[in-house]
Amino acid sequence: MSKTRVLLLTSRPESRRLLESALLGTDFVPCSVDFGEGAENIESQADVLLADAEALDSPSIREFVRRNPQMPLVLMTPDLRVETLLDVMRLGGVEVVRAPSRREEILEALQRALKRRQELTQWAEQEANRQALHLRREVDELRSLLKVGHVITANLNLEEALKAVVDAARELTGAEESVLMLLDEEAGELYLRAESNLQSGNKTLRLKIEDSLAGEVVRTGKPRVIDKDTLEKIKTAYLVQALIYVPLYMQGRVIGVLGVDNRTRRGYFTERDVNRLRALADYAAVALENASLYGKVEEERRKLEQVIRQVKEGMAVVDHDGDLILVNSTAASILGLSLEDALNKVRFAQFCSDPDVLSAVQGSISENREHHTELQARDGRVFDVHIMPVEGIGVILTFYDITHFKKLDQLKSNFVNAVSHDLRSPLTAALGYIELLSRVGPLNPAQTEFLSRARASLDNITDIINNLLDLGKIEAGLDKHNEIVNVAVAIQYAVEGNLPQAEAKKQSIEVSIDKNLPPVLGNAVRLRQVVDNLLANAIKYTPEGGKIKVTAKAQGGQVIITVEDTGAGIPQAEQRYIFNKFYRASNVAGVHPGTGLGLSIVKSIVENHKGRIWVESEVGKGSKFTTVLPAAPQIDSEEETENPNDE
Ligand code: ADP
Repeated sequence: MSKTRVLLLTSRPESRRLLESALLGTDFVPCSVDFGEGAENIESQADVLLADAEALDSPSIREFVRRNPQMPLVLMTPDLRVETLLDVMRLGGVEVVRAPSRREEILEALQRALKRRQELTQWAEQEANRQALHLRREVDELRSLLKVGHVITANLNLEEALKAVVDAARELTGAEESVLMLLDEEAGELYLRAESNLQSGNKTLRLKIEDSLAGEVVRTGKPRVIDKDTLEKIKTAYLVQALIYVPLYMQGRVIGVLGVDNRTRRGYFTERDVNRLRALADYAAVALENASLYGKVEEERRKLEQVIRQVKEGMAVVDHDGDLILVNSTAASILGLSLEDALNKVRFAQFCSDPDVLSAVQGSISENREHHTELQARDGRVFDVHIMPVEGIGVILTFYDITHFKKLDQLKSNFVNAVSHDLRSPLTAALGYIELLSRVGPLNPAQTEFLSRARASLDNITDIINNLLDLGKIEAGLDKHNEIVNVAVAIQYAVEGNLPQAEAKKQSIEVSIDKNLPPVLGNAVRLRQVVDNLLANAIKYTPEGGKIKVTAKAQGGQVIITVEDTGAGIPQAEQRYIFNKFYRASNVAGVHPGTGLGLSIVKSIVENHKGRIWVESEVGKGSKFTTVLPAAPQIDSEEETENPNDE
């Protein structure tokens, strides 16, 4: 058996020796600590304190006794005055023994002190257990409330959320049944929205606001509790033993009532039950609000979907991952699908297999800018597909039927071709006769001047006609070649050809071509014409001293050529028309001469090479034309194409 440690608090060595000898041979072992200077925070593991009267004069000993109420104090004193006894009591002492005393008296006092300590410890343990149990219950309750809260707020199914509320209300309060009633303002009634274990069987329960208990809660906005003191026949026409109704608030207004009751059991509810119910009522309000918001969003979405479905133009929405998120029946029918079939397609690539549209959609998503392309439907109709990026969604595709314009365009091209062809011979004849005039007789200076003007005009018309015939040939694909074209060389020639004009306007031309630029498969003369036209425009539309930059680089199996200037720029709204025949932008049309055919030729050539061209421009700042051409497939041969950069 372990010994009981007795901490001896003595002032003099002889009284210490006396006490030590009293404990000799017993279950008590004396121990001591040093209460010397600076010993305020002294620690000891003793079971009981045995002090003589003088020891309590020391402030550090008194402090030690005060800080250790778990060690009962036994005082030995010759002085049994009331003041002394009061002082000991205030210090928490439990036993006083008159000194000098017999050994048995000291031991008995120690035993009693220890017994008292034991009783105190037991009481403290019981109290701690009781508190712990109470706290555990509280924590469990909070946990279940939180769980219910989570179920309710994470659940978009209103029925399930409200059912969870009434079930939890019943479980947490230990009630027999629980109801959730909502306000029907028009009828001035409360109707049953959810219930748990409702005995009455009246699942279509309705209560008038003006003369029911639940109605009173709606009117006052305050909870109502019925217990043994207020037991009454409530207006639901059934007797209850106990009941709580709490209001359901949404945006500061009472929208219903959550209630629990005991019909048969004589269990009354507490204030805590009311609080629990209030917390659950808040959850129910959140669930109702979520459902109402979700309903509104869903309704808006449905309306929007309806509008898109009804639009006559084909429309589709594709998200950033390439998934088809919305499509209307026109878009589906353009691709030869029924709306049902179209709605079953998850990926846009399953919905539309046209490579041009696919690559334009991909380009629009990755570059986050508008793209256009044409699509020939299976039934022969032609569509202009406009792809527009939309922040946070992806891209919206709109399909405009341009079959009619295409036909007109074709007719116009045929007509222009025919007329151009027929005009060329008489024009050549007219030019020939102008040449001859000076040879058949002397001309006065005015006649010479007029003839030179006539020749300039005829040259201009001839240019237009040649351009038109050129365009006709390119569009008809009559000049297709499949030669390996060194793009760097084509660019170099085009730059050299345009240098005199640039120098005349004191413009600089900076050329930057990637080393190892891959070749392109096609027609070298035409590809040079592309760069040539773009450069000529850049020089023409850029004022004196401006800067022009030509770059060519390889990227992902493509050759990307850009021609950039610091010139007049093109108004945003007109940019999509400048590749059309004869179109000239409003900001330059009256200022610089031109036919509006150059870019149509450029575009036709680029498209014949399976490439794309677009412009980025800002009025007054400059323009940047980007041409993307597919690189020629790699041939495993030693033969190298000539590259001026290698020299
Ligand atoms: P043209 O230059 O003969 O008018 P194009 O077909 O080459 O015909 O060009 C069509 C129109 O595009 C031009 O009239 C002009 O409005 C605009 N454009 C083309 N290139 C540029 C440029 N580099 N800077 C400003 N505008 C340009």
